[in-house]
Amino acid sequence: TFSPRAVLVTGGAGFIGSNFISHFMAANPGCRVVNLDLLTYAGNLKNLVGVEHDPAYRFVRGDIGDAELVARLLAEERIEAVVHFAAESHVDRSITGPEIFVKTNVLGTQVLLEESRKHWAAGAVEQFRYLQVSTDEVYGTLGETGYFTEETPLTPNSPYSASKAGADLLVRAYRETYGFPALTTRCSNNYGPFQFPEKLIPLMIHNIVAKKPLPVYGDGKNVRDWLHVKDHSTAIETVLKNGRLGEVYNVGGNNEWQNIAIVNLVCDLLDARLGRGEGENRQLITFVKDRLGHDRRYAIDAAKMKRELGWEPSYTFERGIAETIDWYLANGAWVDEVTSGSYRDYYQQQYGGE
Ligand code: NAD
Repeated sequence: TFSPRAVLVTGGAGFIGSNFISHFMAANPGCRVVNLDLLTYAGNLKNLVGVEHDPAYRFVRGDIGDAELVARLLAEERIEAVVHFAAESHVDRSITGPEIFVKTNVLGTQVLLEESRKHWAAGAVEQFRYLQVSTDEVYGTLGETGYFTEETPLTPNSPYSASKAGADLLVRAYRETYGFPALTTRCSNNYGPFQFPEKLIPLMIHNIVAKKPLPVYGDGKNVRDWLHVKDHSTAIETVLKNGRLGEVYNVGGNNEWQNIAIVNLVCDLLDARLGRGEGENRQLITFVKDRLGHDRRYAIDAAKMKRELGWEPSYTFERGIAETIDWYLANGAWVDEVTSGSYRDYYQQQYGGE
């Protein structure tokens, strides 16, 4: 088992990265965690209130594309593992503005890889591993049957997934060319606390509470596999510690839902919680013009994770979705802050500067 003493987490102020840091620090006391995050609209330090005063934790505001900064952090913190979450992550934004996706996801990853490779090749630390956090969207779309395996060819359809596939291929090339100790995980859709309210589940919760229309793309029958973010965190930790170098691991929840079925479920669970009549929230559903290039179905075959590493999700969807809804209801202030951008004032107050 690989057991790093210092980990550089990129994008640790985002949805999955912050959940990962909280999980990882609790599970690995004594391991130092450095969080490098640019704090774009999607990054929020309030996701990390539970760890920010821990002496083993350090936050650095900066860009993964800043080679000098990355090199300095790797050396000065004697980093033994890089877990790379930082990305532009929203498909809709990639359709209206693809450029930043290539800049961050492809070029940024290349800089991070190159500085990590130099740090590893210089033998600055005794042990080193790099983990690329990727997505099932790189595999493109499925028909009504079948699953993505690790051998499925990469045929991304959106600028977002194309940029993630580009990064994955660079990781592969670094392994093949330099023998760089890299691992890749490709996970299905995540849900859970601290997800930015532009994504499906928190957007629906937010709009239902506000009695606003619930936009559903096309016929609502696109299918996604949903995994609780905590299960994604344990999967990443498992692969980092026990995965075979150079391998790709698919991570999924075996939990396929049509978008419209998810929206109906969230509506119904909120009817009771908000004291509204049965079926009242469903009346807010509004079908809108389909997303361009909208992939029909994603489904992950996560058998390799179970077979090789013994990993399985621990959340049932029933429990996970109920807890998530309750978390959003209890954390309305967080939602208001991230949507208004007022967390930036918090940053200034905590850390000074910009
Ligand atoms: P997110 O948008 O919530 O967070 C991204 C974080 O990266 C933010 O904190 C942002 O400030 C930071 N960031 C952006 N550009 C940066 C840069 N140039 N330098 C440093 N930091 C930068 O995203 P998320 O949903 O938490 O996704 C995290 C990773 O997991 C991404 O790589 C994504 O592709 C992957 N992924 C996400 C899902 C999902 O369902 N959300 C599923 C599978 C894989």
